[in-house]
Amino acid sequence: MQSTTHQSLRNSILPRQLKAAAQHRRCVAIILIKFPSLHEINARRSYDTGDSILRQAWYRVSAMAKYDDCLHQTGGVQFCLVLPLLENTVILELALAKLDDALSLPYEFEGETIFMPAKLGASSSADIGIQAEDLLLAAETALASVRGSSPSWKIHQAQRPRPELFRDMQSELRNAIENNELELFYQPQIDLKSGRCVGFEALTRWPHLGTYIPPDVFIPYAEQSDLIFLITNWSIQNAVRQLQNLDNMDLGGYPFSVSVNISGRCLGEECLYNSISNALSIWNVAPERLIIELTETAFMEDLDAAAKSCNRLKHELGVKISLDDFGMGYSGMEIIHKVCADELKIDKSFIQDLHRNERSEKILTSLLALGESLGISTVAEGVESSESLRALQALSNGQAQGFLFSKALKGRYLKDWLKNDARRLRASMRTQLT
Ligand code: C2E
Ligand code: CA
Ligand code: CA
Repeated sequence: MQSTTHQSLRNSILPRQLKAAAQHRRCVAIILIKFPSLHEINARRSYDTGDSILRQAWYRVSAMAKYDDCLHQTGGVQFCLVLPLLENTVILELALAKLDDALSLPYEFEGETIFMPAKLGASSSADIGIQAEDLLLAAETALASVRGSSPSWKIHQAQRPRPELFRDMQSELRNAIENNELELFYQPQIDLKSGRCVGFEALTRWPHLGTYIPPDVFIPYAEQSDLIFLITNWSIQNAVRQLQNLDNMDLGGYPFSVSVNISGRCLGEECLYNSISNALSIWNVAPERLIIELTETAFMEDLDAAAKSCNRLKHELGVKISLDDFGMGYSGMEIIHKVCADELKIDKSFIQDLHRNERSEKILTSLLALGESLGISTVAEGVESSESLRALQALSNGQAQGFLFSKALKGRYLKDWLKNDARRLRASMRTQLT
Protein backbone atom coordinates (compact mmCIF):
# COMPACT_ATOMS: atom_id res chain seq x y z
CA MET A 1 0.00 0.00 0.00
CA GLN A 2 1.33 3.42 -0.92
CA SER A 3 1.38 5.62 2.16
CA THR A 4 1.15 9.36 1.47
CA THR A 5 0.96 12.25 3.85
CA HIS A 6 -2.00 14.59 3.67
CA GLN A 7 0.53 17.34 3.08
CA SER A 8 2.06 15.77 -0.02
CA LEU A 9 -1.42 15.10 -1.44
CA ARG A 10 -2.31 18.74 -0.88
CA ASN A 11 0.98 20.31 -1.91
CA SER A 12 2.24 18.12 -4.70
CA ILE A 13 0.09 15.26 -6.02
CA LEU A 14 -3.24 17.09 -6.36
CA PRO A 15 -1.79 20.39 -7.65
CA ARG A 16 -0.01 18.39 -10.38
CA GLN A 17 -3.23 16.62 -11.37
CA LEU A 18 -5.25 19.84 -11.27
CA LYS A 19 -2.74 21.55 -13.54
CA ALA A 20 -2.82 18.68 -16.05
CA ALA A 21 -6.63 18.67 -15.96
CA ALA A 22 -6.83 22.44 -16.58
CA GLN A 23 -4.49 22.10 -19.60
CA HIS A 24 -6.77 19.45 -21.09
CA ARG A 25 -10.04 21.17 -20.08
CA ARG A 26 -10.91 18.21 -17.90
CA CYS A 27 -11.47 17.91 -14.17
CA VAL A 28 -10.07 15.93 -11.25
CA ALA A 29 -12.13 14.07 -8.68
CA ILE A 30 -11.06 12.53 -5.43
CA ILE A 31 -12.74 9.90 -3.30
CA LEU A 32 -11.86 9.61 0.39
CA ILE A 33 -12.55 6.18 1.80
CA LYS A 34 -12.96 5.59 5.48
CA PHE A 35 -13.58 2.34 7.38
CA PRO A 36 -15.33 3.30 10.64
CA SER A 37 -15.32 -0.30 11.94
CA LEU A 38 -11.60 -0.96 11.45
CA HIS A 39 -10.76 0.06 15.03
CA GLU A 40 -13.41 -2.30 16.29
CA ILE A 41 -12.06 -5.16 14.14
CA ASN A 42 -8.54 -4.51 15.48
CA ALA A 43 -9.81 -4.39 19.05
CA ARG A 44 -12.20 -7.32 18.97
CA ARG A 45 -10.21 -9.64 16.71
CA SER A 46 -6.59 -8.64 16.14
CA TYR A 47 -4.40 -6.14 14.33
CA ASP A 48 -3.42 -8.96 11.94
CA THR A 49 -7.07 -9.35 10.97
CA GLY A 50 -7.46 -5.58 10.50
CA ASP A 51 -4.25 -5.37 8.42
CA SER A 52 -5.24 -8.25 6.19
CA ILE A 53 -8.72 -6.86 5.54
CA LEU A 54 -7.35 -3.41 4.88
CA ARG A 55 -4.95 -4.90 2.32
CA GLN A 56 -7.82 -6.75 0.65
CA ALA A 57 -9.81 -3.49 0.53
CA TRP A 58 -6.77 -1.77 -1.00
CA TYR A 59 -6.62 -4.34 -3.83
CA ARG A 60 -10.34 -3.88 -4.52
CA VAL A 61 -9.93 -0.11 -4.74
CA SER A 62 -6.67 -0.26 -6.70
CA ALA A 63 -8.45 -2.25 -9.41
CA MET A 64 -10.28 1.02 -10.13
CA ALA A 65 -7.22 3.29 -10.10
CA LYS A 66 -6.24 4.46 -13.56
CA TYR A 67 -2.53 4.82 -12.82
CA ASP A 68 -0.27 3.51 -10.09
CA ASP A 69 0.01 6.87 -8.37
CA CYS A 70 -3.74 7.41 -8.08
CA LEU A 71 -4.36 5.54 -4.85
CA HIS A 72 -2.91 6.70 -1.55
CA GLN A 73 -3.21 5.65 2.04
CA THR A 74 -3.47 8.96 3.87
CA GLY A 75 -3.98 7.77 7.39
CA GLY A 76 -4.48 4.52 9.25
CA VAL A 77 -8.08 4.19 8.13
CA GLN A 78 -8.34 6.34 5.05
CA PHE A 79 -7.62 5.87 1.37
CA CYS A 80 -7.69 8.62 -1.20
CA LEU A 81 -8.45 7.63 -4.78
CA VAL A 82 -7.67 10.27 -7.41
CA LEU A 83 -9.59 10.18 -10.69
CA PRO A 84 -7.52 12.31 -13.07
CA LEU A 85 -8.52 13.91 -16.38
CA LEU A 86 -12.25 13.25 -16.06
CA GLU A 87 -14.44 14.36 -18.92
CA ASN A 88 -17.45 14.89 -16.70
CA THR A 89 -18.63 14.14 -13.20
CA VAL A 90 -21.15 11.45 -14.22
CA ILE A 91 -18.18 9.11 -14.21
CA LEU A 92 -17.61 10.01 -10.57
CA GLU A 93 -21.06 8.75 -9.60
CA LEU A 94 -20.50 5.53 -11.50
CA ALA A 95 -17.12 5.07 -9.84
CA LEU A 96 -18.66 5.63 -6.40
CA ALA A 97 -21.44 3.13 -6.99
CA LYS A 98 -18.91 0.56 -8.22
CA LEU A 99 -16.59 1.15 -5.29
CA ASP A 100 -19.49 0.98 -2.87
CA ASP A 101 -20.47 -2.42 -4.31
CA ALA A 102 -16.90 -3.71 -4.20
CA LEU A 103 -16.36 -2.60 -0.59
CA SER A 104 -19.68 -3.97 0.69
CA LEU A 105 -18.62 -7.53 -0.15
CA PRO A 106 -17.36 -9.60 2.77
CA TYR A 107 -13.67 -10.24 3.39
CA GLU A 108 -12.04 -13.53 4.28
CA PHE A 109 -9.52 -14.00 7.06
CA GLU A 110 -8.35 -17.43 8.21
CA GLY A 111 -11.52 -19.06 6.93
CA GLU A 112 -13.81 -16.49 8.54
CA THR A 113 -16.09 -14.06 6.76
CA ILE A 114 -15.85 -10.48 7.99
CA PHE A 115 -17.65 -7.31 6.93
CA MET A 116 -15.96 -3.92 6.99
CA PRO A 117 -18.34 -1.33 5.50
CA ALA A 118 -16.82 1.79 3.99
CA LYS A 119 -17.90 5.43 3.91
CA LEU A 120 -17.00 7.37 0.78
CA GLY A 121 -16.77 11.15 0.43
CA ALA A 122 -16.07 12.61 -3.00
CA SER A 123 -15.51 15.94 -4.67
CA SER A 124 -14.55 17.18 -8.11
CA SER A 125 -12.95 20.26 -9.64
CA ALA A 126 -15.80 21.02 -12.04
CA ASP A 127 -15.35 24.74 -11.32
CA ILE A 128 -12.40 26.81 -12.60
CA GLY A 129 -9.71 27.75 -10.12
CA ILE A 130 -10.26 24.95 -7.63
CA GLN A 131 -7.23 24.34 -5.43
CA ALA A 132 -6.14 21.03 -3.91
CA GLU A 133 -7.18 22.29 -0.49
CA ASP A 134 -10.72 23.06 -1.72
CA LEU A 135 -10.99 19.61 -3.23
CA LEU A 136 -9.87 17.91 -0.02
CA LEU A 137 -12.10 20.04 2.17
CA ALA A 138 -15.15 19.35 -0.01
CA ALA A 139 -14.45 15.59 0.04
CA GLU A 140 -14.02 15.68 3.82
CA THR A 141 -17.32 17.56 4.15
CA ALA A 142 -18.99 14.91 1.97
CA LEU A 143 -17.45 12.13 4.08
CA ALA A 144 -18.64 13.73 7.29
CA SER A 145 -22.18 13.99 5.97
CA VAL A 146 -22.55 10.32 5.02
CA ARG A 147 -25.32 8.97 7.20
CA GLY A 148 -26.22 5.31 7.29
CA SER A 149 -25.28 2.69 4.82
CA SER A 150 -27.41 3.20 1.75
CA PRO A 151 -25.91 4.88 -0.05
CA SER A 152 -22.69 5.02 1.89
CA TRP A 153 -21.29 7.79 -0.26
CA LYS A 154 -21.81 11.51 -0.85
CA ILE A 155 -20.42 14.04 -3.30
CA HIS A 156 -19.75 17.59 -2.26
CA GLN A 157 -18.95 19.96 -5.10
CA ALA A 158 -15.69 21.78 -4.50
CA GLN A 159 -16.37 25.51 -4.71
CA ARG A 160 -14.13 28.14 -6.25
CA PRO A 161 -11.72 29.41 -3.66
CA ARG A 162 -13.91 31.55 -1.43
CA PRO A 163 -11.84 33.08 1.30
CA GLU A 164 -15.06 34.37 2.84
CA LEU A 165 -16.24 30.79 3.44
CA PHE A 166 -13.89 28.07 4.60
CA ARG A 167 -10.50 29.75 4.55
CA ASP A 168 -11.11 31.21 7.90
CA MET A 169 -13.74 28.89 9.27
CA GLN A 170 -13.40 30.21 12.77
CA SER A 171 -14.05 33.84 11.93
CA GLU A 172 -16.98 32.85 9.69
CA LEU A 173 -18.38 30.80 12.53
CA ARG A 174 -17.88 33.65 14.98
CA ASN A 175 -19.85 35.95 12.67
CA ALA A 176 -22.59 33.37 12.30
CA ILE A 177 -22.90 33.08 16.08
CA GLU A 178 -22.83 36.84 16.63
CA ASN A 179 -25.48 37.33 13.92
CA ASN A 180 -27.58 34.59 15.48
CA GLU A 181 -27.47 32.53 12.29
CA LEU A 182 -27.01 29.09 13.83
CA GLU A 183 -30.15 27.00 14.05
CA LEU A 184 -31.15 24.33 16.52
CA PHE A 185 -33.02 21.34 15.10
CA TYR A 186 -34.83 18.76 17.22
CA GLN A 187 -34.97 15.03 16.60
CA PRO A 188 -37.83 13.18 18.34
CA GLN A 189 -37.20 10.35 20.78
CA ILE A 190 -39.86 7.66 21.00
CA ASP A 191 -40.86 5.35 23.82
CA LEU A 192 -40.77 1.86 22.33
CA LYS A 193 -43.67 0.45 24.33
CA SER A 194 -46.20 3.27 24.06
CA GLY A 195 -45.02 4.73 20.74
CA ARG A 196 -45.22 8.17 22.39
CA CYS A 197 -42.74 10.95 21.66
CA VAL A 198 -41.06 11.62 25.00
CA GLY A 199 -38.35 14.08 24.13
CA PHE A 200 -36.02 15.58 21.57
CA GLU A 201 -32.31 15.77 20.90
CA ALA A 202 -31.19 19.28 20.01
CA LEU A 203 -28.76 19.28 17.07
CA THR A 204 -27.02 22.41 15.85
CA ARG A 205 -26.96 23.40 12.17
CA TRP A 206 -25.02 26.14 10.43
CA PRO A 207 -26.94 27.42 7.40
CA HIS A 208 -24.56 28.76 4.80
CA LEU A 209 -25.08 29.67 1.14
CA GLY A 210 -28.20 27.59 0.73
CA THR A 211 -26.89 24.53 2.50
CA TYR A 212 -26.36 23.35 6.07
CA ILE A 213 -22.84 22.72 7.26
CA PRO A 214 -23.14 19.66 9.51
CA PRO A 215 -22.06 19.97 13.15
CA ASP A 216 -19.40 17.31 12.94
CA VAL A 217 -17.66 19.56 10.40
CA PHE A 218 -17.78 22.85 12.32
CA ILE A 219 -17.81 21.75 15.99
CA PRO A 220 -14.14 20.61 15.81
CA TYR A 221 -13.21 24.15 14.66
CA ALA A 222 -15.25 25.64 17.46
CA GLU A 223 -13.54 23.36 19.97
CA GLN A 224 -10.19 24.84 19.08
CA SER A 225 -11.28 28.24 20.37
CA ASP A 226 -13.68 29.88 22.79
CA LEU A 227 -16.45 29.55 20.18
CA ILE A 228 -17.45 26.22 21.65
CA PHE A 229 -18.48 28.02 24.87
CA LEU A 230 -20.67 30.42 22.89
CA ILE A 231 -22.30 27.59 20.93
CA THR A 232 -22.87 25.52 24.05
CA ASN A 233 -24.48 28.38 25.94
CA TRP A 234 -26.60 29.26 22.91
CA SER A 235 -27.81 25.67 22.44
CA ILE A 236 -28.65 25.21 26.13
CA GLN A 237 -30.63 28.47 26.28
CA ASN A 238 -32.56 27.70 23.10
CA ALA A 239 -33.21 24.05 23.88
CA VAL A 240 -34.62 24.85 27.33
CA ARG A 241 -36.66 27.72 25.93
CA GLN A 242 -38.09 25.27 23.38
CA LEU A 243 -39.32 23.07 26.23
CA GLN A 244 -41.19 25.99 27.69
CA ASN A 245 -42.67 26.74 24.23
CA LEU A 246 -43.89 23.16 23.97
CA ASP A 247 -45.40 23.39 27.46
CA ASN A 248 -47.41 26.40 26.27
CA MET A 249 -48.70 24.73 23.13
CA ASP A 250 -51.66 22.79 24.39
CA LEU A 251 -50.26 19.39 23.47
CA GLY A 252 -51.80 17.44 26.28
CA GLY A 253 -49.34 18.52 28.92
CA TYR A 254 -46.72 15.83 28.30
CA PRO A 255 -43.44 16.91 29.95
CA PHE A 256 -41.00 16.37 27.05
CA SER A 257 -37.29 16.24 27.75
CA VAL A 258 -34.56 17.87 25.69
CA SER A 259 -31.06 16.47 25.21
CA VAL A 260 -28.15 18.79 24.47
CA ASN A 261 -24.74 17.66 23.20
CA ILE A 262 -21.94 19.06 25.30
CA SER A 263 -18.32 19.13 24.19
CA GLY A 264 -15.75 17.74 26.60
CA ARG A 265 -14.04 21.14 26.46
CA CYS A 266 -16.95 22.67 28.37
CA LEU A 267 -17.32 19.99 31.00
CA GLY A 268 -15.88 21.21 34.29
CA GLU A 269 -16.04 24.87 33.24
CA GLU A 270 -17.94 27.19 35.53
CA CYS A 271 -19.59 28.78 32.48
CA LEU A 272 -21.33 25.47 31.67
CA TYR A 273 -22.66 25.18 35.21
CA ASN A 274 -23.90 28.79 35.13
CA SER A 275 -25.39 28.45 31.67
CA ILE A 276 -27.48 25.43 32.70
CA SER A 277 -28.50 26.93 35.99
CA ASN A 278 -29.54 30.24 34.31
CA ALA A 279 -31.50 28.54 31.53
CA LEU A 280 -33.47 26.40 33.98
CA SER A 281 -34.40 29.35 36.16
CA ILE A 282 -35.12 31.82 33.31
CA TRP A 283 -37.42 29.39 31.49
CA ASN A 284 -38.75 27.80 34.63
CA VAL A 285 -38.19 24.24 33.52
CA ALA A 286 -37.76 21.26 35.87
CA PRO A 287 -34.05 20.28 35.77
CA GLU A 288 -34.65 16.58 35.16
CA ARG A 289 -36.13 17.48 31.78
CA LEU A 290 -32.72 18.64 30.55
CA ILE A 291 -30.38 15.82 29.50
CA ILE A 292 -26.69 16.47 29.01
CA GLU A 293 -25.17 14.18 26.37
CA LEU A 294 -21.47 13.43 26.57
CA THR A 295 -19.38 11.15 24.41
CA GLU A 296 -16.38 9.17 25.54
CA THR A 297 -13.97 11.89 24.34
CA ALA A 298 -15.22 14.11 27.17
CA PHE A 299 -13.74 11.63 29.66
CA MET A 300 -10.52 10.84 27.90
CA GLU A 301 -8.17 13.45 29.33
CA ASP A 302 -8.98 13.06 33.00
CA LEU A 303 -11.74 10.60 33.79
CA ASP A 304 -11.89 11.38 37.51
CA ALA A 305 -12.18 15.12 37.00
CA ALA A 306 -14.78 14.72 34.23
CA ALA A 307 -16.80 12.26 36.33
CA LYS A 308 -16.72 14.69 39.25
CA SER A 309 -18.01 17.54 37.05
CA CYS A 310 -20.79 15.34 35.67
CA ASN A 311 -21.85 14.20 39.09
CA ARG A 312 -21.89 17.82 40.28
CA LEU A 313 -24.20 18.85 37.41
CA LYS A 314 -26.46 15.96 38.26
CA HIS A 315 -26.55 16.32 42.04
CA GLU A 316 -26.43 20.11 42.43
CA LEU A 317 -28.46 21.18 39.39
CA GLY A 318 -30.62 18.08 38.97
CA VAL A 319 -30.06 17.57 35.22
CA LYS A 320 -29.71 14.10 33.73
CA ILE A 321 -26.53 12.69 32.26
CA SER A 322 -26.52 10.61 29.09
CA LEU A 323 -23.52 8.68 27.73
CA ASP A 324 -23.69 9.19 23.97
CA ASP A 325 -22.51 6.74 21.27
CA PHE A 326 -22.28 4.15 24.02
CA GLY A 327 -20.65 0.87 23.06
CA MET A 328 -18.36 2.38 20.45
CA GLY A 329 -15.33 3.30 22.52
CA TYR A 330 -12.96 1.32 24.66
CA SER A 331 -13.63 2.85 28.07
CA GLY A 332 -17.40 2.70 28.35
CA MET A 333 -17.26 0.42 31.40
CA GLU A 334 -14.72 2.57 33.20
CA ILE A 335 -16.85 5.65 32.57
CA ILE A 336 -20.09 4.06 33.68
CA HIS A 337 -18.30 2.84 36.80
CA LYS A 338 -17.48 6.42 37.82
CA VAL A 339 -20.27 8.54 36.35
CA CYS A 340 -23.77 8.47 37.79
CA ALA A 341 -25.32 8.28 34.33
CA ASP A 342 -29.09 8.31 33.87
CA GLU A 343 -29.11 7.19 30.27
CA LEU A 344 -27.08 5.11 27.81
CA LYS A 345 -27.44 6.25 24.24
CA ILE A 346 -26.58 3.13 22.34
CA ASP A 347 -24.58 3.85 19.22
CA LYS A 348 -26.34 3.56 15.89
CA SER A 349 -23.84 1.01 14.55
CA PHE A 350 -25.53 -1.66 16.71
CA ILE A 351 -29.03 -0.67 15.63
CA GLN A 352 -28.85 -0.01 11.90
CA ASP A 353 -28.25 -3.66 10.96
CA LEU A 354 -29.93 -5.22 13.99
CA HIS A 355 -32.40 -7.28 11.97
CA ARG A 356 -29.69 -8.92 9.85
CA ASN A 357 -26.66 -9.10 12.09
CA GLU A 358 -26.67 -11.53 14.95
CA ARG A 359 -23.58 -9.95 16.51
CA SER A 360 -25.33 -6.56 16.69
CA GLU A 361 -28.30 -8.25 18.33
CA LYS A 362 -26.09 -9.93 20.93
CA ILE A 363 -24.13 -6.78 21.71
CA LEU A 364 -27.34 -4.78 21.98
CA THR A 365 -28.85 -7.39 24.31
CA SER A 366 -25.88 -7.12 26.65
CA LEU A 367 -25.90 -3.30 26.57
CA LEU A 368 -29.60 -3.29 27.42
CA ALA A 369 -28.99 -5.75 30.26
CA LEU A 370 -26.19 -3.53 31.55
CA GLY A 371 -28.54 -0.54 31.58
CA GLU A 372 -31.27 -2.52 33.29
CA SER A 373 -29.02 -3.94 36.00
CA LEU A 374 -27.70 -0.47 36.84
CA GLY A 375 -31.14 1.14 36.66
CA ILE A 376 -30.07 3.32 33.73
CA SER A 377 -32.50 3.97 30.90
CA THR A 378 -31.53 3.33 27.28
CA VAL A 379 -32.06 5.09 23.98
CA ALA A 380 -31.28 3.21 20.76
CA GLU A 381 -29.99 5.58 18.08
CA GLY A 382 -30.17 5.10 14.31
CA VAL A 383 -33.50 3.32 13.82
CA GLU A 384 -33.75 3.58 10.06
CA SER A 385 -36.02 0.72 8.97
CA SER A 386 -39.18 -0.94 10.21
CA GLU A 387 -37.26 -4.25 10.28
CA SER A 388 -34.74 -2.93 12.78
CA LEU A 389 -37.54 -1.29 14.78
CA ARG A 390 -39.34 -4.64 15.06
CA ALA A 391 -36.12 -6.35 16.15
CA LEU A 392 -35.50 -3.57 18.66
CA GLN A 393 -39.02 -3.72 20.07
CA ALA A 394 -38.51 -7.42 20.74
CA LEU A 395 -35.49 -6.62 22.93
CA SER A 396 -36.03 -3.22 24.52
CA ASN A 397 -38.55 -1.39 26.67
CA GLY A 398 -36.57 1.80 26.40
CA GLN A 399 -36.55 4.64 23.91
CA ALA A 400 -35.41 5.02 20.33
CA GLN A 401 -34.46 7.70 17.85
CA GLY A 402 -33.81 7.60 14.13
CA PHE A 403 -34.74 8.61 10.62
CA LEU A 404 -37.60 6.08 10.59
CA PHE A 405 -39.45 8.24 13.14
CA SER A 406 -38.19 11.59 11.97
CA LYS A 407 -35.13 13.55 10.97
CA ALA A 408 -34.22 16.51 13.13
CA LEU A 409 -36.88 19.20 12.69
CA LYS A 410 -36.80 22.97 12.87
CA GLY A 411 -38.31 24.17 16.14
CA ARG A 412 -41.23 25.84 14.38
CA TYR A 413 -42.33 22.51 12.86
CA LEU A 414 -42.43 20.62 16.16
CA LYS A 415 -46.01 21.46 16.99
CA ASP A 416 -47.30 20.20 13.63
CA TRP A 417 -45.17 17.11 13.85
CA LEU A 418 -46.48 16.34 17.34
CA LYS A 419 -50.09 16.97 16.36
CA ASN A 420 -50.00 14.90 13.16
CA ASP A 421 -47.05 12.60 12.52
CA ALA A 422 -46.46 11.70 16.17
CA ARG A 423 -50.08 10.63 16.59
CA ARG A 424 -49.97 8.48 13.45
CA LEU A 425 -46.69 6.97 14.57
CA ARG A 426 -48.07 6.14 17.97
CA ALA A 427 -51.11 4.44 16.49
CA SER A 428 -49.03 2.39 14.07
CA MET A 429 -46.57 1.30 16.76
CA ARG A 430 -49.42 0.24 19.00
CA THR A 431 -50.97 -1.91 16.26
CA GLN A 432 -47.57 -3.45 15.58
CA LEU A 433 -47.29 -4.48 19.20
CA THR A 434 -50.74 -5.99 19.50
P1 C2E B 1 -24.87 12.57 17.75
O1 C2E B 1 -24.98 13.23 19.08
O2 C2E B 1 -24.58 11.09 17.75
O3 C2E B 1 -26.23 12.90 17.01
C1 C2E B 1 -26.92 12.03 16.20
C2 C2E B 1 -26.56 12.23 14.75
O4 C2E B 1 -27.08 11.13 14.01
C3 C2E B 1 -27.20 13.47 14.17
O5 C2E B 1 -26.35 13.97 13.14
C4 C2E B 1 -28.48 12.92 13.56
O6 C2E B 1 -29.01 13.68 12.52
C5 C2E B 1 -27.99 11.57 13.05
N1 C2E B 1 -29.07 10.60 12.97
C6 C2E B 1 -30.26 10.65 13.56
N2 C2E B 1 -31.02 9.58 13.25
C7 C2E B 1 -30.26 8.82 12.44
C8 C2E B 1 -30.48 7.59 11.77
O7 C2E B 1 -31.54 6.95 11.85
N3 C2E B 1 -29.47 7.12 11.02
C9 C2E B 1 -28.29 7.79 10.88
N4 C2E B 1 -27.35 7.26 10.10
N5 C2E B 1 -28.04 8.96 11.50
C10 C2E B 1 -29.01 9.47 12.28
P2 C2E B 1 -25.92 15.50 13.16
O8 C2E B 1 -27.04 16.36 13.52
O9 C2E B 1 -25.21 15.76 11.88
O10 C2E B 1 -24.91 15.58 14.36
C11 C2E B 1 -23.65 14.98 14.28
C12 C2E B 1 -22.94 15.11 15.60
O11 C2E B 1 -22.59 16.48 15.86
C13 C2E B 1 -23.80 14.70 16.79
O12 C2E B 1 -23.76 13.30 16.87
C14 C2E B 1 -23.13 15.43 17.93
O13 C2E B 1 -22.02 14.68 18.42
C15 C2E B 1 -22.56 16.68 17.26
N6 C2E B 1 -23.40 17.85 17.60
C16 C2E B 1 -24.57 18.24 17.08
N7 C2E B 1 -25.00 19.39 17.65
C17 C2E B 1 -24.07 19.72 18.59
C18 C2E B 1 -23.93 20.80 19.53
O14 C2E B 1 -24.77 21.68 19.66
N8 C2E B 1 -22.82 20.78 20.33
C19 C2E B 1 -21.88 19.80 20.25
N9 C2E B 1 -20.83 19.85 21.07
N10 C2E B 1 -21.97 18.77 19.36
C20 C2E B 1 -23.04 18.74 18.54
CA1 CA C 1 -25.91 13.10 20.81
CA1 CA D 1 -24.97 9.58 19.25
